[in-house]
Amino acid sequence: MSGFIEGENRTQATLFPEQLDEYVTEENPVRVIDVFVDELDLKSLGFKTSPEDTGRLGYHPATMLKLYVYGYLNQVQTSRRLEREAQRNVELMWLTGRLAPDFWTIAEFRKNNGPAIRKVCREFVLICRKLELFTDAFVAIDGSKFKAVNNRDRNFTKAKMKRRLEQLDASIARYLSQMESADRVDEQRYKQKSERLKDKIVKLKEEIKRLQELEKEMLAAPDKQLSLTDPDARSMKTSGRGTGIVGYNVQTAVDTKHHLIVAHEVTNTCHDFTQLSKMAKQAKAAIGAEGLEVVADRGYFEGEQILACDKAGITTYLPKPQTSNNQAKGLFGKRDFHYVAEDDEYRCPAGERLPWRMTTQERGKTLHRYWSSNCQTCSMKSRCTTSKQRRVSRWEHEGVLEALEARLDKEPERMRVRRQTAEHPFGTLKAWMGSTHFQMKTLNRVRTEMSLHVLAYNLKRVINILGVRPIIKAVQA
Ligand code: SF4
Repeated sequence: MSGFIEGENRTQATLFPEQLDEYVTEENPVRVIDVFVDELDLKSLGFKTSPEDTGRLGYHPATMLKLYVYGYLNQVQTSRRLEREAQRNVELMWLTGRLAPDFWTIAEFRKNNGPAIRKVCREFVLICRKLELFTDAFVAIDGSKFKAVNNRDRNFTKAKMKRRLEQLDASIARYLSQMESADRVDEQRYKQKSERLKDKIVKLKEEIKRLQELEKEMLAAPDKQLSLTDPDARSMKTSGRGTGIVGYNVQTAVDTKHHLIVAHEVTNTCHDFTQLSKMAKQAKAAIGAEGLEVVADRGYFEGEQILACDKAGITTYLPKPQTSNNQAKGLFGKRDFHYVAEDDEYRCPAGERLPWRMTTQERGKTLHRYWSSNCQTCSMKSRCTTSKQRRVSRWEHEGVLEALEARLDKEPERMRVRRQTAEHPFGTLKAWMGSTHFQMKTLNRVRTEMSLHVLAYNLKRVINILGVRPIIKAVQA
């Protein structure tokens, strides 16, 4: 006796029990994956469920899908690692019936079944809805930047290209001046040095030529940007000052009660202000509620987007960004002017009436203008405007924004809920990805990859909330 717990002898005859099933407990999450995929109508989701008439027999999409869902749930996302796991992992042996496809087959399945895989993710949200996990009908919308396969050096914007060309020109100038000032006393050394510098200059000139060719390609692109490895990836600013990545902007609508991702979208737009209504409408459809409450940060504040939500029966909570030039100069802000709806006029801090004067069109928006005739003689003018008179603009649907402001004033804690909700899924997903980039290239394939991440996240959350057996019961119901 060694005095420690001892393992079995390797050469013992019955290492495996009679049934593989005995290795997988009743509470093992792998059982949820098995039942969930088996209950899906794979054909209607777009998977090819009938075998080819000719050629080698292929793997059933259910087997491949189980393999991927298991992989993303256990942070095994690459096809090569999945191939290895399928050969040695008992849970995967149980799940796939000891089938172990090669990495190429695994990779091809993800590549060729993008739209269907994305629908599978939505199917799980429907199960969550059936389990009444979205009863609050309140979601937080947020976006986060995820790295693409594309290295920063292989992405070009106008500013980056200008900077790189300037750096190359500066390097050439430096080498030329080094050549001129080189010591010519030692003939042999001078020759060697000038040869070396000439070689460097030739290489730099070749690089300039290459960049100039790329510049032409870049300027021909609609958004004047070029990514060489993943053509859809875009340069994006991140929250850290002076930091940025080349990647994608992932949008999520997260249920505030259980932190489940109700809807998600991958875009390559660098900003969030065109995303609010699209994400909110997707979330509303996924939850299937009559009305929906949505909270988001100030990056989403855009009049038309808020109006679209309002028309769709979605109540929004988001703060207005402080972009007023007047306030930055220490002058009265728009909030200091009170709108009197019945008279269609504003009252200024000096108590003067600012009646309607004219209506204009600006960037597709109808704006009404209001001003007073008494500004010139006003004692508060130095705190109000540097112009002849203070003019106040009002968007034709400004009432929707005022109602939003009043709602948020009444319930400021909604913003705290936003922070607590939105950060959880992104933090988890990034930890699972291991701060690395997406495995796939181009927007559509990255969308598929994100759907697998979201499905795995939601699965894990629901298993943590309800346990394995209730989910299996709900899926089979
Ligand atoms: S400057 Fe004009 S708008 Fe401003 S407080 Fe005076 S009267 Fe009112």
